[in-house]
Amino acid sequence: MDFKCPKCQSPIYSRRHKKCGQCGAELPPELLLTSEQVKAMDVQLEQEDKRRREFPLPDTSSSVL
Ligand SMILES: [Zn+2]
Repeated sequence: MDFKCPKCQSPIYSRRHKKCGQCGAELPPELLLTSEQVKAMDVQLEQEDKRRREFPLPDTSSSVL
C-alpha cells in the first residue's frame, strides 16, 4: 500500500498529520497512524535521542566543534 493524498495524489510524507501538506485535504484515517502508533514512535525517538546524547560518536562531535 502506498500513501497518497486522495485529492491531489501527492505522497504523504508524515502520517502523523491529519491533513495533506500539499492541498490541505483531510486524509482518511486508514492512511494515518493511530495515536498509539504515534506514541510508540515518540518513545522510540526519545530513546534514540537520549542514547545519542549520552554516547556521542567521536566523529560527529569533533566535526561540530
Ligand atoms: Zn493533497
